[in-house]
Amino acid sequence: MPPSPAAGRCVFCRIASGAEAASIIHGDEAVVAFMDHRPVRPGQCMVIPRAHVDHFTDVDEPTALRMMQVARRIGRRMRRVFRPLRVGMVVHGFGVAHAHLILVPQHATDDITSARLASIRDGRVVFGIASLPFADAAELDEHARLLAGAGDETG
Ligand SMILES: [Zn+2]
Repeated sequence: MPPSPAAGRCVFCRIASGAEAASIIHGDEAVVAFMDHRPVRPGQCMVIPRAHVDHFTDVDEPTALRMMQVARRIGRRMRRVFRPLRVGMVVHGFGVAHAHLILVPQHATDDITSARLASIRDGRVVFGIASLPFADAAELDEHARLLAGAGDETG
């Protein structure tokens, strides 16, 4: 795939190209995996296509399959490292308009729909990441190190 004309226009493109700092878990010609800097639970991370594609449904099939392959491998390592009850995977499509598959180490049944995503604004309950604190950068680097190498495993 030729470089996207949109390359560099969004924060995930910048992370994929190395222009923006992130705690990288895995990178290859098609996909990049890195730590979410506002995790609901420690260890939350995401897998993105290297090329800028907004909708996950528009990602070319080999890349979409590679995203899932890398996510499953990281998920297995996540289970060993963070000991969640379940590894959740979410594509909700909001936030950054660059397809991203989010891996959530679930320690409770409602971690994906976490109450931590709720906040009160102008007297109304709203949902989003605005109420989530930013994780410590050194901690994210350590978590990335613990989850790294997962893309090299087979199966
Ligand atoms: Zn992008």
